[in-house]
Amino acid sequence: SKAKLFDEKNDIQVSFKDVAGLEGAKDEIVEIVEFLKNPEKYTSIGGKIPKGALLVGPPGTGKTLLAKAVAGEAKVPFFSLSGSDFVEMFVGVGASRVRDLFKQAKEKSPAIIFIDEIDAVGRARGKSNFSGSNDERENTLNQLLTEMDGFGSNTNVIVLAATNRAEILDKALLRAGRFDRQIYVDLPDVKEREQIFNVHLRNIKKVDNLDIDFLAKQTPGFSGADIANVCNEAALTAARKDKSQVDMQDFLDAVDRIIGGLEKKNKIISPDE
Ligand code: ATP
Repeated sequence: SKAKLFDEKNDIQVSFKDVAGLEGAKDEIVEIVEFLKNPEKYTSIGGKIPKGALLVGPPGTGKTLLAKAVAGEAKVPFFSLSGSDFVEMFVGVGASRVRDLFKQAKEKSPAIIFIDEIDAVGRARGKSNFSGSNDERENTLNQLLTEMDGFGSNTNVIVLAATNRAEILDKALLRAGRFDRQIYVDLPDVKEREQIFNVHLRNIKKVDNLDIDFLAKQTPGFSGADIANVCNEAALTAARKDKSQVDMQDFLDAVDRIIGGLEKKNKIISPDE
């Protein structure tokens, strides 16, 4: 059986209202929705539509969510793959996978291609400490550069890529006509955490007097993904206790558990502390 090369979704239901906070990033990326919906408006006057944008920020802050929201708002297909998958590829497969991906996206254009963890394939060439797979990684990267250069400004495929380490990327990726726009997606501040709680509480049966402001204040350093996790954990805890509504204690217990998990993760990263 043939391994799946990439994922294609034609009916993305995510919209900007599912993305809480990130006002600056949304302001920038909304333009890409416009390019996809109405390219002639920009090209007829002689403008060149950008081919790619890089979403930069810590894990779990909503980069994938934002990319999906672009496809959802523009109502275009969403082709996605993860850079880290390439690392496991057999020789020659990475480059042909990229070629195939762009071919499919062009056939279905307008479309979004989303490459998560682009640093896995896009690290600066010749600086890898990965044994063995380096040539293969470089072939894949070169194919990606070739594809991005190859499609004209009327192709109407826009490539979004995500990374939490833009500084290690090969400079060739950031050159004009490739990922020449960077959009920053940061950890949420207290106000934004409250907004993220509100998004994830939409479908949760909770007590009326839940103090969301307090929860936001209790969760500094949490990403959107951590907050989504808190809401789900709290709901599961309440259900386990046969409650019909999730209450403040369920949320605070979930916050504590997530903090415990984050501390454990940090210990693994810095064992001498
Ligand atoms: P990674 O770098 O780990 O791939 P990411 O930045 O792509 O992370 P997402 O996968 O978009 O993060 O976020 C994971 C989940 O966390 C989302 O599906 C969503 O449920 C929640 N989430 C993250 N950020 C937000 C946000 N700003 N608003 C609402 N939900 C969010």
